[in-house]
Amino acid sequence: NSSLHEVDPDVAAAVDAELHRQQSTLEMIASENFAPVAALEAQGSVLTNKYAEGYPGRRYYGGCEHVDAIENIARERLKELFGAEAANVQPHSGASANAAAMFALLKPGDTIMGLDLAHGGHLTHGMKINFSGKLYNVVAYRVDEESGRVDMDNVEQLAREHRPQLIIAGWSAYPRQLDFAAFRRIADEVGALLMVDMAHFAGLVAAGVHPSPVPYADVVTTTTHKTLGGPRGGAILSKKEYAKKINSAVFPGQQGGPLEHVIAAKAVSFKVASSDEFKERQQRTLDGARLLAERLMKQDAVDAGISVLSGGTDVHLVLVDLRNSELDGQQGEDRLHEIGITVNRNAVPNDPRPPMVTSGLRIGTPALATRGFQEEDFREVADIIAEALLPTFDEEKGKSLMARVSALADKHPLYPGLGK
Ligand code: PLP
Repeated sequence: NSSLHEVDPDVAAAVDAELHRQQSTLEMIASENFAPVAALEAQGSVLTNKYAEGYPGRRYYGGCEHVDAIENIARERLKELFGAEAANVQPHSGASANAAAMFALLKPGDTIMGLDLAHGGHLTHGMKINFSGKLYNVVAYRVDEESGRVDMDNVEQLAREHRPQLIIAGWSAYPRQLDFAAFRRIADEVGALLMVDMAHFAGLVAAGVHPSPVPYADVVTTTTHKTLGGPRGGAILSKKEYAKKINSAVFPGQQGGPLEHVIAAKAVSFKVASSDEFKERQQRTLDGARLLAERLMKQDAVDAGISVLSGGTDVHLVLVDLRNSELDGQQGEDRLHEIGITVNRNAVPNDPRPPMVTSGLRIGTPALATRGFQEEDFREVADIIAEALLPTFDEEKGKSLMARVSALADKHPLYPGLGK
């Protein structure tokens, strides 16, 4: 019954340090967020002790009455949140959700089409050494060099030529909305199924500030920890006709016992995501990203060779293009880290620099919106980022930017009740 601090002071110290890091710096990794305390509590509960292979009402273990109730709540809330016919809340992660969905819909050797990793796609959409690239024949579509947007003519042409069994629409680093209706039309034309991976923008969809893929896609996969703001995990939505296949692909196809403590935290976050406060937060997320893009397109940034891919954003992230800047992605990431802002470097399409260096930055606003950032705060952080990336940056400047970052962090305390 001893506490973490008593049993394992080493781990406890690292957890405390991580809490302090999250509280004292500005988190702008586009795929990160802050789960509500209620979700942390559910995830840290005794549910972690329970085996529950199977599904509610059909388990392979006794004593599942309470986890059944929890998993049913999670499934029903998820279906309701997105207006889906069927839901599976057991995937341990987004990658697991994608693996299970493809396992359900495809045979090894089938052809899939996904957005090229180097153009913003995810590893699980067909990267060479990922399971998706090894098990399936991959045809990657790309973004148009000029517009920075997915080229639907290219998608259509490739689909006609290669007749894939599955088309995947979704992204990890792309600043615009996809045209789900056009993907559906192309999939129908070539007899393919359509899977949308909304991991990044699920929170925006839940809030109604981004079009929903659910009416168009046969299957929709997601993570629960990005814009959706819940615990790390995955989920799959589908039309009723695929529900059975998907359930059996998740368990026993891909996974053993579900993580009911995480499923409880998912249930909590789905409830939060149906609230008006959540809608307002997602709108601030979008507004913040737009303000950041606008700031990074001002003349001083242009003069420094900085630009914004696709000339803006209509989602929760901005992709900064440093191909014409002396600063590379690694240096940009390091410089922002130095002043207390966490982002990740990211390859841009046709990146001339190596993958560990890159010529881009992916900067997202979900975590700061969760922290309570308002328009004026996003303007301030956008200005800080721009000033950090300009050639006028020096040690003196770094100090003053760091102080401005601290002021923003203090203005919007994170998890004020924790770590006391
Ligand atoms: N799908 C997309 C579009 C993603 O961006 C990610 C994660 O970055 C995943 C799936 C995988 O999620 P996870 O890291 O939980 O496996």
